[in-house]
Amino acid sequence: VRRPFVAGNWKMYKTVGEAVELAQDLVTETNGTVNEVVIFPPFTALESVAEAIDGKSVGYGAQDLCWEDEGAFTGAVSGAQIADIGCEYVLVGHSERREIFKEDNEIIAKKMKAAYRNQLKPVLCVGETDAERKQGATNAKIDGQLKSALAGISAEQAKLLTIAYEPIWAIGTGNTATAQDAQEVCLFIRNQLNEIVGEEVARHIRILYGGSVKDTNAAQFCINGIDGVLVGGASLKAESFAKIVRSF
Ligand code: 13P
Repeated sequence: VRRPFVAGNWKMYKTVGEAVELAQDLVTETNGTVNEVVIFPPFTALESVAEAIDGKSVGYGAQDLCWEDEGAFTGAVSGAQIADIGCEYVLVGHSERREIFKEDNEIIAKKMKAAYRNQLKPVLCVGETDAERKQGATNAKIDGQLKSALAGISAEQAKLLTIAYEPIWAIGTGNTATAQDAQEVCLFIRNQLNEIVGEEVARHIRILYGGSVKDTNAAQFCINGIDGVLVGGASLKAESFAKIVRSF
């Protein structure tokens, strides 16, 4: 069975001091959970957070990585650098990277390889826009995202993968997908994974839902086919995030 996974993506919030305090509070408030809890602080706070919580029950990772390990890539941070400060996970292909920073499937595929090359476990984010959803193009979009990101990935690597289904229209909008809609798409993702990497490998891969998950609605996503949640806004307060961890 797959261990439930509750992840907090802090996006571009928190100073170093605030981040360390939040991380320490989370360790205290989520104490005793059987779920895997992982936070994704901004780069500036990552090392301080790592020092504060390393070896504790909360894991940490980076929100993004470059596809190269070093070189003249002003402003970028590499998988090698992220691994060097003890990160276990990295988000790849978050919709904000795709939409705002114009990262396409080809770039995401290179980032996936960079993550594995540096022993980082990728959390691959997929999801459709509102327009795509209305056109009935959700499955086709996600299928393309999965197939391009998983091309050339070995079975052993695929076992370390987590997928986050984040419909773009539900992110930061207060509109969550209904539990049933989320479940339907997550089951579609499960079927595609079975097809792409085989059922034996795919059963290791966790599938999360993300998009306006709050402490008041998290429990409804604790259903067959959904292995956890990726939380943005509600992960910025220890109390609300801890409630989500407990409700899942
Ligand atoms: P919100 O929970 O703020 O909608 O963000 C979701 C998200 O993008 C997590 O990666």
